[in-house]
This record gives sequence, C-alpha cells and structure tokens, in this order.
Amino acid sequence: MNKGRLIVFSAPSGCGKGTMLAEILKDESFRCSISATTRKPREGEADGVNYYFITNEEFEQKLSEDAFLEHAGYCDHYYGTLKSEVDPYLEKGINVILEIEVQGAMKVRKLRPDALFVFIAPPSVNELRRRLHKRGTESEEVIEQRVAAAHEELTYADKYDYVIVNDALEDAVSDFFAVVRAEQLTVKAQSEFIDEVIKNA
Ligand code: 5GP
Repeated sequence: MNKGRLIVFSAPSGCGKGTMLAEILKDESFRCSISATTRKPREGEADGVNYYFITNEEFEQKLSEDAFLEHAGYCDHYYGTLKSEVDPYLEKGINVILEIEVQGAMKVRKLRPDALFVFIAPPSVNELRRRLHKRGTESEEVIEQRVAAAHEELTYADKYDYVIVNDALEDAVSDFFAVVRAEQLTVKAQSEFIDEVIKNA
C-alpha cells in the first residue's frame, strides 16, 4: 500500500480555511491532524475534535516528552502538532493535513522536506478583515492583531509549493484536489510504478 502524503496547509486567520477543510475532509483519504493548543475553545469547538485544548503546564509536559513534531507561539498562545497525529496515519495510506501557521510550516519544511506545502491566500487583506468581522468570534482588538499577523504571514507565501486563492470556495477546493493529484503524478512519485512496468515487460 502507498503511504499517505503529508500536506502542510497554511492560511492567515479568516481565509476560510475551516470551510475549505470541511469540504476536503469529505474525502476519506484525507485527515486533518488535531493539534494541541493553550488557547481557549471558541463557541462550537470541542476538545479532541478541533484541538486538544490543554493548559500551559500540560503543553510544557508534552514538550519535555518530545511529543511534538513542531510547535509555535501565535497571538499569545502555544500550538503544536503531535507526532502521534501524523505518522500512524501516513502509514495507513491516509493523507495527513497539518493546518498550521507559517513558523511551524517552516520547521516542518526542514524536518519533512517530502511534505507538500500549500498556502491559502485571501483575495485581499480588506476582504480578510471583513470575513473576521462577519465571523464575530473575536474582539476588535484580536481581529486587528490577526489582520496584522495575516499581513506578516502573506510574506511567507513564496516559501510554499503552491498558492491557492480562496475567493470562491468551490474553486479553491477543486484547486486543492488538482494540486494533490498533480503531485501524485510527478516523475518522482511515479518512479516505482515505472520501474515495475519496465521490470515486468
Ligand atoms: P486558531 O486560533 O485560529 O485556531 O489558529 C491560529 C493559528 O495557529 C492558525 O494559523 C493555525 O493554522 C495555527 N495552528 C493551529 N495548530 C497549529 C499547530 O499545531 N502548529 C502550528 N505551528 N500552528 C498551528
């Protein structure tokens, strides 16, 4: 069985990545890794579903146990990818998506150069601000903090393999699947198959 592909999926807050992921995850060959975070759950979020919501002490404990593939601080909170959320699923042939911010993504770039790096961009920063207001889950101050973080994150887009603009959800989702499919068809990805065909000719 082929191993799954590790996919790093980064998007500034308000880019609609949650809705994109919900669509992508309807395909059972994809799974989103559940991160640990010290931020409080938003309304509608559940422990063990959106995140493992843990305390600073618990986060530090996991750090000392080397439980994270990567971790980063973002807007006053810690976020980390648990190793247990990644390799066991790749081994089963499932594509594992890491929905992480740019600092963490750059760490994964070094640790797992074979991963696929996809950056989701908003059509504009103003549109992003508008979406954050519409979501209504953050205070004005946090929204501006997130818009500033988004501005900074956009400067990292060129460190990724692909950039998908999330203007119309359906198009962005189909772009994502197109990217993953193209990656499955690269010469490198197909080399074992080609060797087999030659051997059995
Ligand atoms: P939010 O608080 O909006 O759920 O997430 C804030 C940021 O943290 C987002 O950019 C999200 O992608 C990122 N994030 C979530 N989990 C992780 C993680 O495990 N590691 C890193 N580096 N970033 C994460």
